[in-house]
Amino acid sequence: MKKIVIVSNRLPLKVEKNEQSIVFSPTSGGLATGLKSVHESGNALWIGWPGVPKEELEAAQLDEVKASLGDMNFKPVHLDQEQVEDFYLGLSNKSIWPLFHYFKQNVVFDDNQWEAYKQVNEQFAQAVVEEVQPGDTVWVHDYQLLLVPDLIRQKIQDVTIGFFLHIPFPSFEIFRIFPKRQEVLRGLMGADLIGFHTYDYQRHFVSSVKRILHLEVNFNTINDRGREVIVNTFPMGIDTEKFEAVSKEHDEKHPSDFSEMRKQFTSHRAQSNGKLILSIDRLDYTKGILNRIEAFELFLKRYPAYHEKIRLVMVIVPSRSEVSHYKALKKKTDESIGRVNGMYSTVNWTPIWYYYRSFDFDDLIDLYKGCEVAMVTPLRDGMNLVAKEFLATKLDSKGVLILSELAGASKELHHALLVNPFDTFALSEAIHEAVEMSEEEQIERNRPMRERIRRYDVHEWSKRFMEELNRIADRAPEEHTVRIRTKQKEQLIQAFKASKERLLLLDYDGTLTGFHVNHQKAIPSAEVLSILQKLSEDPATHIAVISGRPPDFLEKHFGHLPIDLIAEHGHLTRLKGGAEWKEKNMSSDEWIAHVLPVMQQFADNTPGTFVEVKKNALVWHYRKTDPELGIIKSEELKTTLRSMVSNEVHLMNGDKIIEVVSSSVNKGTASIERYNSSSYDFVLAAGDDVTDEDMFTYLPSSSVSIKVGAKATAAQYRVSDYNAMIDFLGELARAL
Ligand code: UDP
Repeated sequence: MKKIVIVSNRLPLKVEKNEQSIVFSPTSGGLATGLKSVHESGNALWIGWPGVPKEELEAAQLDEVKASLGDMNFKPVHLDQEQVEDFYLGLSNKSIWPLFHYFKQNVVFDDNQWEAYKQVNEQFAQAVVEEVQPGDTVWVHDYQLLLVPDLIRQKIQDVTIGFFLHIPFPSFEIFRIFPKRQEVLRGLMGADLIGFHTYDYQRHFVSSVKRILHLEVNFNTINDRGREVIVNTFPMGIDTEKFEAVSKEHDEKHPSDFSEMRKQFTSHRAQSNGKLILSIDRLDYTKGILNRIEAFELFLKRYPAYHEKIRLVMVIVPSRSEVSHYKALKKKTDESIGRVNGMYSTVNWTPIWYYYRSFDFDDLIDLYKGCEVAMVTPLRDGMNLVAKEFLATKLDSKGVLILSELAGASKELHHALLVNPFDTFALSEAIHEAVEMSEEEQIERNRPMRERIRRYDVHEWSKRFMEELNRIADRAPEEHTVRIRTKQKEQLIQAFKASKERLLLLDYDGTLTGFHVNHQKAIPSAEVLSILQKLSEDPATHIAVISGRPPDFLEKHFGHLPIDLIAEHGHLTRLKGGAEWKEKNMSSDEWIAHVLPVMQQFADNTPGTFVEVKKNALVWHYRKTDPELGIIKSEELKTTLRSMVSNEVHLMNGDKIIEVVSSSVNKGTASIERYNSSSYDFVLAAGDDVTDEDMFTYLPSSSVSIKVGAKATAAQYRVSDYNAMIDFLGELARAL
């Protein structure tokens, strides 16, 4: 049975050490609830840090934790105190957290912390690799583990990896500031599916991928050197049913069973006939706590009629108190609340009731139910569950939600009073509107929102993510194309070994190497050269590198090998052992004189693009320009060229290039010529681009054709990317 591995920084358990033993208690956070059904579905494992630094446990206790957690299908990744400081409190919370929430001024980047971050991510990836088999599924969570998907992928290819980001993904202009921006994107691109709370975060991510990694994106599919990575939006919900059920229980309670809080709220209402405004957050600068206090102060100043009637119930849950920005915020919050209460309190009334602690679930329900208005006004928030929880407890659909436009939740809860949290005046007005709002309007606004959070709850969230991940895992390759896995590899290697005379026709860019912003820098690795050397030393194995590149490039990098070189899609050939390039007899190259000035003009008008002049082809390269501008301009150029060129030339759309070549010669005609030059009983052709399709279709069907990457193809077989192709060639070389 296929295994599912969940990976998150923290396990959904509290591990506490008392005098005699170690005690485990489950936590009830959103993630734990959402993933419960995934975790409990048959063959699943959850990997994470148990929350206690390694030093606090003796060797025997570490074993005990491992064994006890193992019984519950959890696996610990143990972190020592220094790692917790550098990886968690450091890089994750002093660098990624503020930057991704647009708090550039709070970012502290430290190289040592980055090293710790990488090391811990490797530790997590290793813990996964030890547990998975080909065909299994992994779901990695959040900003502490951004590098994990690729670290897993490097060690084991054939697993399906999902990643969900629980915080915002910032706009490209913010993200580009991060010193390790490329590493972070590469880390994430190891996944097959990347999920975000909102479409905006998805959009920002894709924009960074285009601009920093220069990858091609088609709607929500990123093409990473032939591998497809899907990005999508999955707004996280809450356990709505549970909130409604407990809310209902509270409605049915006898007054003698009321909590202290509920009694206090009831008496406030009896005394003042007023309303309560709720504010609940972790102490975090992203939550807009100070702005909210200021707005409440302004409301009191502008609307004295509400004095002694309206109260702000402010719950602040201690968080990350070891980080200096959080300590400073605590001090400022205390001062602000003190200022407002000092200024406005009367004998009967304190405007702000302030709690600096967390509440258990039952009290939380009393808070939500007991307050008429909730003010959820973060300056930036990935989702914000408090907004949804407040609405879920309102069984009669009464109550007013004031919600920040900059919380992910605002995309779903657009019937709330939406506000810009930086606009203090607008916030104070929203408070006024909220306390004045008629019950009819409250119900009208809340009904559709309550319906939404009921339909798309946390179970639906994890279900939809898993469904999409499974769909990707089961993605059937096109009918005729078979992905080369272990079994196919063995069969092909056997056929290769058993044959007497072999021909390997290999495309270069995208097949033997990756793409590079500067195409001159996309050179073959030492590994590729040594594999080709080894294969070509065998007298029965004949190799041809068949590329769109000009002859001098191929000669420079492959000239020393005993192989055939075919340049410019078959227009020029240098056979093994020879030093001369032979050129195909061309009908006419008059077209070059017409096309070149047009291409040159496009290059001049589109910064970052340039024209490459080959003997029999012209290429306009647009990899280095802004990706969106590149696409627009390439469409324009194609339209212009189509109206100019006739049958003698062929217009090709390559990877970030537009190429015009003579049409009488192509890789197909060139490979047939090689095929006819001897009596081969094993022929293999491999390539990634449209021009390689000519090889696949011209060669006889007894040949082995391999498509590198995910694009549509006529080939029989497929490998994921050039690395997989090189690995396969390495295996052929070793088989000799
Ligand atoms: N919460 C809690 N006890 C409290 C206050 C809040 O358990 O005393 C919970 C609340 O129910 C919510 C979560 O903390 O589920 C806060 O999630 P949110 O997405 O609003 O913000 P985050 O803290 O994740 O940034």
